[in-house]
Amino acid sequence: MPDSSHFEFRDINCPACGGDLHKFVGWRGGRAHHSGSGELTAIVRCIHCTHQYPNPMPFPKGNLDELYFDADKYFFGHDIEKKKENGLRMMRQFEERLGKKGRILDVGCGVGENLWAALQSGWQAEGVDPSSEFIRLGKERLGVSGRNCTLEEAGFCAESFDVIMMSSIIEHLYDPFMVLVEATKLLKNGGWLWLDAPNEDGLYMRLGNVYMALQRKDWVVVMAPTFPPYHVQGFNPSSIKTLVERSGLYVREINMIGAVCEQTGEKTLRKRAEYLAASAVNRLGRAFNSGTYMTIWAQKTV
Ligand SMILES: [Zn+2]
Repeated sequence: MPDSSHFEFRDINCPACGGDLHKFVGWRGGRAHHSGSGELTAIVRCIHCTHQYPNPMPFPKGNLDELYFDADKYFFGHDIEKKKENGLRMMRQFEERLGKKGRILDVGCGVGENLWAALQSGWQAEGVDPSSEFIRLGKERLGVSGRNCTLEEAGFCAESFDVIMMSSIIEHLYDPFMVLVEATKLLKNGGWLWLDAPNEDGLYMRLGNVYMALQRKDWVVVMAPTFPPYHVQGFNPSSIKTLVERSGLYVREINMIGAVCEQTGEKTLRKRAEYLAASAVNRLGRAFNSGTYMTIWAQKTV
């Protein structure tokens, strides 16, 4: 687990809109975490676009490999067969939108389930991931060859992809705008970007923050900037739209999805009760378009 010596805290402008006005919303990590995980980090909300982010931002000093080194820990609870099935379903959706199969890029391909699904479905597929361990496992377990690099390092040709997917990636990026500008450049005209992200303004998160306030704590439950799973961007439907459209794409659809994960570790009565309450809140949130997770479909248009 990286400690404070692994992070360098620097003031930044809003990663979604570039604006420089924000207000403090609460503390996260360290003394402001129920089990003391990570470093104490200030969470702010952008006045312009309502995006939430840590400011100062904790940038890792070393290679990203130091954060994402343990695939079994990082993907704990992920069912590989389910993820492969989900990948096949995604490919059918891409084909429907595009009207044909084509060339797809999976940014942050992890251990490669979507790459596997794309190849199985008859797409030309590429994947990139900064974790050498994930790329190695993808090859070993699924026989797929992702590239161990960032999107910018990969050097793909402009306008060479029909679909770019970013599954559970954007909330991890320190400069999501730069990555989306690159993705926009790589898409052909009419091509699609699909991504998903937690909705940090969902009912579940809002009630979690209220729960903290009721306990007279100046803590928030949004993101996890310095501890697993290292979420450093707190999007909501409005701020993700702002970011994606600033990068040059047109947002066609935002859908609310997602379920609450059962917590790992000791199964106490209290944890069980908290899980049941969280599930009920999440169902309610989805019903009122205020769910925990969202998917975004955006298109490059001339
Ligand atoms: Zn903003």
